[in-house]
Amino acid sequence: MSEKTMHAAVLHAVGDLRYEEVARPEPRSGEVLLKVLGCGICGSDIPRVFVSGTYHFPTIPGHEFAGKIVYDPDGELDGKYAAVFPLIPCRKCAACEVGEYANCSDYDYYGSRRDGGFAEYIAVDKRNLILLPENVDPVVASLCEPGSVGRAAVRRLDVQLGDLCVIFGAGPIGLIAAQWARRAGASKVRVVDISDEKLAFAEKFGFEAYDQARDGLADCVLEGTGASPALANCVLSLKNHGRLVLMGNPGRDMTLPQKVYSQILRRELSIFGTWNSSFNSVTNDWTATVAAMADGSINYADLITHRVDLFDCNRALTMMRDKTEFFTKVTFVNPE
Ligand SMILES: [Zn+2]
Ligand SMILES: [Zn+2]
Repeated sequence: MSEKTMHAAVLHAVGDLRYEEVARPEPRSGEVLLKVLGCGICGSDIPRVFVSGTYHFPTIPGHEFAGKIVYDPDGELDGKYAAVFPLIPCRKCAACEVGEYANCSDYDYYGSRRDGGFAEYIAVDKRNLILLPENVDPVVASLCEPGSVGRAAVRRLDVQLGDLCVIFGAGPIGLIAAQWARRAGASKVRVVDISDEKLAFAEKFGFEAYDQARDGLADCVLEGTGASPALANCVLSLKNHGRLVLMGNPGRDMTLPQKVYSQILRRELSIFGTWNSSFNSVTNDWTATVAAMADGSINYADLITHRVDLFDCNRALTMMRDKTEFFTKVTFVNPE
């Protein structure tokens, strides 16, 4: 392999992911070349690769990455480690004007609309970098993206001291959100999932884990599954005037039985949506996430159940699709 090429997992068509040698990206003005040291496989990458595809082909997927800046054309950041906010805002629309980049009406995205982190190198906009302190492992920092999404959701949940809080969905974002809720002062955080293995894993993080929660005692509930039965369970878990935040991306229409729906009215629930994460100078889930990685107040490292070589991309994605092994976060790791 020459200095001009690199290895990457390239999506050529739906279901056609190839580990191959491609041209190494060259940073344009305002960009740096990042050596990817860790890139998580998101749950959304499974349908992206096997069902829906990326916006065009070929594309390198992967939007959860961090690594080492190996070339900064301006010579400022060489040798530093960074995580990357994967959304490239237009910086022109009304949402961008107030820094609400997640709501941008015309954004670009590393790993779906343009090449992402299933690669050895990527050229990234300097404005999307979050520099890492020395004690943060860049492989763990690849969890900044789901970490920031989980924190943003808990901000919407507005946890009050002493709250009983329930998180539906014990995947990586659910377990990160549960930890933020505990940190925010919830007296009890329960995690609900239909998988016994996931419940056992959640218990290792100190959470009470259940396969359903319908006692109507919760002050606030986070729906992280995008499935109708869980949504009904969320509504029935809440006490009067409880708060429900919807985070899980649905795979199909969401429906509620009439009796459950009327409980939203009778219990006078408040329902909010949450989308992506905030990345601006006023509210920044990314810098908060990196700070929590640095001070150890939230355990991200143990969420990584699989560290895999890019060469094994197809095996890793197929394992996740077919659920042939228990996993929480599967992460591609490149040697530094
Ligand atoms: Zn993701
Ligand atoms: Zn915009």
